[in-house]
Amino acid sequence: MDRVREFIADLKSYLEYLKGMGIETLPGSEAASVQRHVKPSGVTPPDSTLEEIQSELGDCRRCKLHRTRKTIVFGEGNEKARLMFIGEGPGYDEDVQGRPFVGKAGQLLTKIIQSMHLQREDVYIANIIKCRPPQNRNPEPDEIESCSPFVLKQIRTIQPRVICALGTFAAQTLLKTTTKITALRGNAYSLDTIRVIPTYHPAFLLRNPERKKDVWEDMKRIMEYLREEDKPT
Ligand code: URA
Repeated sequence: MDRVREFIADLKSYLEYLKGMGIETLPGSEAASVQRHVKPSGVTPPDSTLEEIQSELGDCRRCKLHRTRKTIVFGEGNEKARLMFIGEGPGYDEDVQGRPFVGKAGQLLTKIIQSMHLQREDVYIANIIKCRPPQNRNPEPDEIESCSPFVLKQIRTIQPRVICALGTFAAQTLLKTTTKITALRGNAYSLDTIRVIPTYHPAFLLRNPERKKDVWEDMKRIMEYLREEDKPT
C-alpha cells in the first residue's frame, strides 16, 4: 500500500514538473540507469561557519575574474540543507544581484526545486566559481583551481546528504574527472559520505527542452534517496 502511495505521489510530482516546464505530452519510458560510486577525497568534517568562509573569501582577488566582476556570488540557502545544488558560475543577473541562479536558468532551477516539493529556502545553492567570467565564457582551469576550495569548504560546513551537480563544470570539478556530463548523468557518485547526482545544467535545458525528462529522472533519484534516508532504521 505504501508503495502504491509512493508511486502515486511520484506520478503527481512528475505531472506537476512537466506542467511547470510547459510540457503537455508525456515522454516515453527510459531504461533504468545504473548506480555507480566513486570516492574523491576532500570533504572532511566542518572546520568553519559559512560566515567565516565568506570572510576568508573577502574581496577576493585570487584570480583574474575580480577585474571584470561586479559582485562575488557566494551562495545562499539553508545552511542545514540536506540538498545542495552546485552550478558553474554566475551569469549577468547573478553578477548584478549577488545571488546565485536568479536569471533565466535560475528561474528554471527554481521550478525544478518546486517540482520536488521544496522551496529555494530549503536547499543551498552555490557555484564552482564565484565571479562571472566575461561574456559568460567557460571558467578556465586556473579560475576553478583558485575558487573551488571555497565551495568545498561550503560543502564541508553544510554537510548535505545529496549534491546535485549542475552541468559539466560542476560535475567534473566535484568528481575530479574529465568525463562528459552526458556520460556522468544517470549515475550516482559519492563525495565521501555525500551522494552526488550530476545532471544537465538548466541553461542547457533552456536550449534542449527535450532533455527535461532526463533531469526529472535525476530529481526523482534525489527524492528517493532523501526519502530512504528519512526512513527509521
Ligand atoms: N549559471 C550558473 O551556473 N550559476 C548561476 O548562478 C547562474 C547561471
